[in-house]
Amino acid sequence: MAFSGQALVRGMANRCARCGARGIFRSYYRLYPNCRACGMRFERESGEWTGALMIIIAFTEILFALWFGIGLWVTWPDVPWVLLLVGGIALNILVPVLFYPWSQSVWIGLHYSFVPLDAAEEADAIAALAADDDPEAGTGRAGS
Ligand SMILES: [Zn+2]
Repeated sequence: MAFSGQALVRGMANRCARCGARGIFRSYYRLYPNCRACGMRFERESGEWTGALMIIIAFTEILFALWFGIGLWVTWPDVPWVLLLVGGIALNILVPVLFYPWSQSVWIGLHYSFVPLDAAEEADAIAALAADDDPEAGTGRAGS
């Protein structure tokens, strides 16, 4: 198992972990089932997005810890508790809602970093590309 930092960087940039193509999302919250450039299936196994949940939870809590810690440090001893509370609640709601798609992309990159496609997944990618000859990508796409 060889770690590929490039795949992780691509994932963090909302690009395909395998080929680096842009445009892996059909809309803000919806991934294409496969990369339109290389055919890699993004949901590689059942439960795939548990990894994305782990990433968004960790990311949110790191931001929350920074918000709270820096807030305490900067304002001590006259801490604006209500501001810290309201800001913390807003942060814990907004960050997961806004950054969940990014966490999926990061997870795809992280997963691919450690586990490149196996032979069956390579075949699936080739089949997905062959089935997606429609130049109007994203419209009228049949199957997945
Ligand atoms: Zn790709």
